[in-house]
Amino acid sequence: MLLLEEKILRDGRVLPGGVLKVGSFLNQQIDAGLLRAMGEEIARLFSGCGVNKILTVEASGIAIAAAAALEMGVPMVFAKKHKTSNVDGDVYSAPAHSFTHGNDYNMVVSRDYLTSADRVLLADDFLANGNALEGLIKLTEMAGAELCGAAIAIEKCFQGGGDALRARGVRVESLAMIERMDGSEIVFRH
Ligand code: 5GP
Repeated sequence: MLLLEEKILRDGRVLPGGVLKVGSFLNQQIDAGLLRAMGEEIARLFSGCGVNKILTVEASGIAIAAAAALEMGVPMVFAKKHKTSNVDGDVYSAPAHSFTHGNDYNMVVSRDYLTSADRVLLADDFLANGNALEGLIKLTEMAGAELCGAAIAIEKCFQGGGDALRARGVRVESLAMIERMDGSEIVFRH
């Protein structure tokens, strides 16, 4: 998606450790026009798939997931991050590792909001090693819901998570795909 690539080149900052900072338009301050365009693009990509729910994980996935949900006219659910391994009552819970924080946590979603009647589209701001999506896939499977695919704003291809999921047959659509980030140079995959 050209608009997003241009924004990344203009306002993204490459940090040490393969981290891209996009706080000025996606992760803290949000460019509402760009967010709406991303929601429209996700709705276009997954139209006709029968998606009836969008699933993400707090906090940074919520904006893009909500934008997609608005365009697709379906509810959006976000898994909560519980740092302990305590499993609450009526929830599905899956372990995950945070790339940005370097810690392990549990993703937790109420059984009321994810059921076997759901056709689920996963959404997130970034795809790196794929741990966040793996956790969301586990939650989807626990609920007996159907997985339609994953919609990502920015995929860092060099970390391999997206291609590993595609090799397993998961449909992953990323609006911007970064092949490599060398110093301040950012090269996209098309
Ligand atoms: P993964 O689980 O695929 O390794 O990483 C994806 C998650 O880590 C996303 O939910 C995102 O919040 C965070 N993340 C991974 N890489 C980056 C990055 O380069 N920049 C930012 N801002 N977040 C990232």
